[in-house]
Amino acid sequence: MKNQVSRYIEDFMAGIQSRNPAEPEFYQAVHEVVESLAPFIVENPVLMKNKILERMAEPERVIMFRVPWLDDRGEVQINRGFRVQMNSAIGPYKGGIRFHASVNLGILKFLAFEQVFKNSLTSLPMGGGKGGSDFNPKGKSDNEVMKFCQSFITELHRHIGPNLDVPAGDIGVGGREVAYMFGQYKRLRNEFTGTFTGKGLDFGGSPLRPEATGFGTVYFAQEMLKTRNDSFKGKTVAISGSGNVAQYAAQKVIELGGTVVTFSDSNGSIYDPKGITTEKLEYVMMLKNAIRGRIKEYAEKYPEAEYWEGSRPWKAKCDIALPCATQNELNGDDAQVLVENGCYCVAEGANMPSTPEAIKVFHDRKILYGPGKAANAGGVAVSGLEMSQNSMRLQWTPEEVDAKLHSIMINIHETCVKNGTDASGYVNYVNGANISGFHKVANAMLAQGLV
Ligand code: NAP
Repeated sequence: MKNQVSRYIEDFMAGIQSRNPAEPEFYQAVHEVVESLAPFIVENPVLMKNKILERMAEPERVIMFRVPWLDDRGEVQINRGFRVQMNSAIGPYKGGIRFHASVNLGILKFLAFEQVFKNSLTSLPMGGGKGGSDFNPKGKSDNEVMKFCQSFITELHRHIGPNLDVPAGDIGVGGREVAYMFGQYKRLRNEFTGTFTGKGLDFGGSPLRPEATGFGTVYFAQEMLKTRNDSFKGKTVAISGSGNVAQYAAQKVIELGGTVVTFSDSNGSIYDPKGITTEKLEYVMMLKNAIRGRIKEYAEKYPEAEYWEGSRPWKAKCDIALPCATQNELNGDDAQVLVENGCYCVAEGANMPSTPEAIKVFHDRKILYGPGKAANAGGVAVSGLEMSQNSMRLQWTPEEVDAKLHSIMINIHETCVKNGTDASGYVNYVNGANISGFHKVANAMLAQGLV
């Protein structure tokens, strides 16, 4: 049996690598899932025969296109746009749009693949997709960002729709970008429908969508802590990133009585041993969202904080770590430093921030470790709730949405515990999330035949 499982994993990964050259992030995401599911799949001839996982690792459709636009100097700029429509077995494709210089097809395939499992975990009827561009919004004027978004949607509009594919935000895409894309979509299609989520509150957005991923990550961590009769109260928390997810994760941690001591961006980290208070967090929100500044400026404003140029925040002593920036931002060495400094709970606000070596350290040391596809599912869950509100032409209150978000995160945690607890009683949330997310999609694919 053990041999059969290892052979299945080896053959599966050899197939993935030969069909998808030079896509390391995609291999990493697929490998993690295959490792969790292989023991179950080799025991289920129906899944083997119908090649369910093989089909799940092949996008239903990939759209790749030229995005030409004029910058403020009147110069022509050309970027590349993508939409990966990974799986629509349980609902319309759903997943964010990322604008970052590093975006390529392999990164979007990893994100779209993870999204399929995550969306299934929320228990809402959403398939998985992801899109984006190598456009770098940093340093661009509002006018340039608008022109880029309009050109991007001029092509993408024909491939998306409220019952087909519903994009949202991700790195580099927040309320401003979603609004520009929605406006252009509406103009080209001559319709007002909920084709984007993360819209402004005045035009169909859901209360709490901006907060949802960060809040949801903390709710998930709270559930993990409860399994050890523990809570955020009095705990020191290290957070990476300083964008949407990081900011609202910090807000919820502070609300629950924890002390946040770090933030970061792609240039470095700040460490504030006195703690980032609500007032300091408001400054970070203004700095990052309104004036689009760098986290370094925090240490200039608050001299009690240190700025660690070019360094990640993981050397800060903490009880709980919430990686909320980007993929592979926490490696094996970082994980070792974290656990040696006493960290015993890691919940991922970002997608795949921990490398396989880091995850091994967490599992070997049996600390609480919540992978992104479970821990950060609150964002897409509230996007699903935004779709429901749009279809019903009504808007719930923030309290109603928060209650639904909270209960979805509690449910996801429960399913992970159910499917991820090993013989020793340790909860392997990676297995729990992969197995739980897989079932519903696999059943739907089996029922729908060879499509
Ligand atoms: P965001 O608002 O654009 O913020 C991203 C943050 O991460 C920024 O502080 C950014 O720093 C930092 N960052 C980006 N690339 C980096 C790199 N290569 N190295 C170090 N730092 C980097 O994006 P976000 O929406 O918070 O997304 C953060 C993570 O959460 C991503 O993994 C995303 O896929 C995941 N996620 C987001 C949502 C959502 O609802 N937004 C939902 C689920 C998962 P700079 O300013 O220097 O770029």
